[in-house]
Amino acid sequence: MTTTGKVIKCKAAVAWEPNKPLVIEEIEVAPPQAKEVRIKIVATAVCHTDLYHLLENKQKDGFPIVLGHEAAGIVESVGSGVTEIQPGDKVIPLFIGQCRECRFCKSPKTNQCVDAWKGTGHHDVMAPPDSRLTCRGKTLLQLAGTGTFSEYTVVGEIAVAKIDPAAPLDKVCLLGCGVCTGYGAAVNTAKVEPGSTCAVFGLGAVGLAAVMGCKAAGAKRIIAVDINPDKFEKAKVFGATDFVNPKDHNKPISQVLSEMTDGGVDFSLECVGNVEVMRSALESCVQGWGVSVIVGWTELQNISVPPLQLIAGRTWKGSAFGGFKGRDEVPQMVKAYLNKKLKLDEFITHNMTLDQVNDAIELMKHGKCIRTVLNVSS
Ligand code: NAD
Ligand code: ZN
Repeated sequence: MTTTGKVIKCKAAVAWEPNKPLVIEEIEVAPPQAKEVRIKIVATAVCHTDLYHLLENKQKDGFPIVLGHEAAGIVESVGSGVTEIQPGDKVIPLFIGQCRECRFCKSPKTNQCVDAWKGTGHHDVMAPPDSRLTCRGKTLLQLAGTGTFSEYTVVGEIAVAKIDPAAPLDKVCLLGCGVCTGYGAAVNTAKVEPGSTCAVFGLGAVGLAAVMGCKAAGAKRIIAVDINPDKFEKAKVFGATDFVNPKDHNKPISQVLSEMTDGGVDFSLECVGNVEVMRSALESCVQGWGVSVIVGWTELQNISVPPLQLIAGRTWKGSAFGGFKGRDEVPQMVKAYLNKKLKLDEFITHNMTLDQVNDAIELMKHGKCIRTVLNVSS
């Protein structure tokens, strides 16, 4: 029996309030409206940004919400005016859309589509007020306009990447956020050069993907920095050559890296989401030409640094979703994985079901996983 045009009742993990476990609920998912797509989510992974919204940012008006934004699924139905996507297509929802028409989409320099932040509209909340999801008579927000901790979700057509039908969804879901974010931050934003020396701060999936990107770009030395030494073994798999635990040193980490590299690294990437680490990453760069990229996410504090750090020739940049234009470039990243040019399986340390989402959140909170993939539906 077709579900097209009907409300779908399905299972989702609902965050009713900050800092509380998610609750598995039956929710209603309305049909897609014009230029929208309803997706059956097959697999979704847990990213630190989900934890950030639940445990750190804690804006009251950001709840109730369906978290999850790193996912893959199959199109169930499409709204009017949707031309490129059909029911049955394998897709990855995008937390940064690509309208292809605005000033930013037309520039090769950026992925900051004018509609990109519709998903995170007013930044405090990280979710647009408009949502097709309801539960117990209440509208459920969708994190970053996606909300993938659910058997079904509805997103804008501009926020859907159609991918190769051969792609295993329980692997390529990682390209919906973490892996593209870190890899692209190195390749697209930092523009890491062959023969260079790099430092990556934070070795979650985002940082490990940055390590992989540095290696792909031809870096000769990649220094992996994390306060959790359990992460170093994995970092080696992705190409890290040196390992530094800030806790092993009683001087600033920028000084440690400067001494290791004759004055500082060529490129550094902050993949933690901590303003102190952002500053350390900048100061670890060599004067004259060092480039530091902020990838980690926080809106709670400002960054500060003595201007001389920049006057001396360092460049400070930021990167969202690795600079990838999602509809055009995520399918290429899927192809790269299918052609064995990109690692994904190595990021997955745990497989669970949607019912176990709170266990997956606990694992990440305690640094016990890289990525947990939740199998949502078959
Ligand atoms: P994660 O929790 O898996 O990894 C974070 C790592 O940082 C951990 O290994 C932790 O031990 C390490 N760490 C913590 N404090 C540190 C310190 N002081 N020095 C060095 N290492 C430290 O998280 P993740 O899913 O890999 O995400 C990383 C960051 O990237 C988060 O802030 C997340 O919100 C952000 N993010 C940004 C974007 C974007 O588009 N810019 C997209 C996705 C995620
Ligand atoms: Zn993410």
